[in-house]
Amino acid sequence: MGEHDSTAFGRRTMLALVGASSATALAGCLGGDGGEETPTPTATPSDRVPEQYRTATGAGGGERDPDNLASKSDVSYQSQPQGGQQCSGCTFYIPDKNGDGVGACTIVEGTIDPSGYCTSYVAHEQNGGDGGESVSPIDVPEDARCAVCDMMAANFPEWNAQAVHADDTREFFCTAGCATTYYAVTDQFAATDADIAGVWVRDLNSRELVDGTAAYYALETDQDRYDDPMRVNPAPFSSREDAVAYVDEVDYLSEDDIVELSAFDRELAEQYRGQLLE
Ligand code: SF4
Repeated sequence: MGEHDSTAFGRRTMLALVGASSATALAGCLGGDGGEETPTPTATPSDRVPEQYRTATGAGGGERDPDNLASKSDVSYQSQPQGGQQCSGCTFYIPDKNGDGVGACTIVEGTIDPSGYCTSYVAHEQNGGDGGESVSPIDVPEDARCAVCDMMAANFPEWNAQAVHADDTREFFCTAGCATTYYAVTDQFAATDADIAGVWVRDLNSRELVDGTAAYYALETDQDRYDDPMRVNPAPFSSREDAVAYVDEVDYLSEDDIVELSAFDRELAEQYRGQLLE
């Protein structure tokens, strides 16, 4: 569970959240010394969200109350992930409803980037497994082998990736190329039939783990552009803007070569890891 700033919300907001958020989420937000009184946040002119978000439900089941929202500055909102945590994995996140690539939040005003982060982040809990393990990345165990190529994932701290299934089965990868291959050809590599519940890859700029399901991948083809494991990999970025900057640097890539995780299929798996496919 991520850091939470109990001073970011007034008592009125917290009361409004009771019944709208999971007990786990509230416990995380209240944490610390029990939450000191601060000025009550209210909706402001900056809370301009499309109508379908105004009272929408977040990932954790809480309902957005447009009269009880924290300002982005209250919660130190940023448009980049932090430590592998980002809005798309937060219990308060309301996913994109109109195809513009951004969503909203049940407790913070305005539109929210799925790659964003704030101090009130609470990892969204999945209940598919026995223990309902948090859908967040974890430290790569020293002995974890890449589920696709069998290399030691921990040996590549700037490149490795990971995934977790709904039954809490977790797999690690040396690179984004192996992670996306695993996603595309799961039947060959997975030790479980449970759905994939989370994927994390390293942003090529920050080398931080970011939500692979919300990342943008530049389909790199030049084996010599980077000295990366397995010679060539799709280049992940948490923001489309960074992916565009990456493809703009070379003549052989264009914005048509930027895809999301859902685009990875057997054909792309063949391109990156064809030698490992059955
Ligand atoms: S802004 Fe993002 S990280 Fe902060 S509470 Fe909302 S969804 Fe969670």
